[in-house]
Formats: sequence, C-alpha cells, structure tokens
Amino acid sequence: MAFLDDIKRFGKNITEKGKDAIEITKLNSQIGAEKDKIKDLYLKIGEAVYRAYVAGETTGYEELCAQIRASEDVISELNDKVLELKNSTKCSNCGNEVPKDTAFCSKCGTKVGE
Ligand SMILES: [Zn+2]
Repeated sequence: MAFLDDIKRFGKNITEKGKDAIEITKLNSQIGAEKDKIKDLYLKIGEAVYRAYVAGETTGYEELCAQIRASEDVISELNDKVLELKNSTKCSNCGNEVPKDTAFCSKCGTKVGE
C-alpha cells in the first residue's frame, strides 16, 4: 500500500504545483499591471516637469527638457517636409492641414496663405 500512497502523494504534488504555477502567473500579471501604472505615472511626472520648463519655471531638469524641445523642433521640421511633399500647408488660424490649391480652410474658413 506504501506504493499506492506514494502515487497519490505524487499526484497531489503535481496538482499543487499546477495550482502554484497558476497563482505565480496571476501574481506576475498583477506585478506587470502595477509596473505599467508606475510607467504611466513617470510619464505624467515627466510631462508636468516639461510643461513647467516650457512655462519658464526652474525644474532642475533643464538639460533633459532641452532635449525634448530639440526633438519637438525636429518633429516640426519633418512635419513641414511632409506638408511640402503633400503640397499642403497649415491653416494660419486653426492649424488644420489644407491643400495649397484651395482658397479657404475647410475647418475654420480662413483664407489659405494668410
Ligand atoms: Zn483653419
């Protein structure tokens, strides 16, 4: 009977290990969700610091903020090139993308090129 008991114990062990594996997966999933929350909060903190920098406040992160500003300038130049290739421009009033050969902005009605 000792042999049968060993088999039962072995089977129970496998079941327990399976439950543990499921529990570990659940816990790791919760850990991942919390890490995602932290990343999101880091992002919000970063955005708040950058907004303060743009508003002229001393943040203590001037160098990093300057790098963001430099990237924004590059993005702006690249967007201008895209608009040029699409033969479009930006509405001077609302910023809407409008084809150069149209007379008025389709969004706000401002005359194109003014
Ligand atoms: Zn417009």
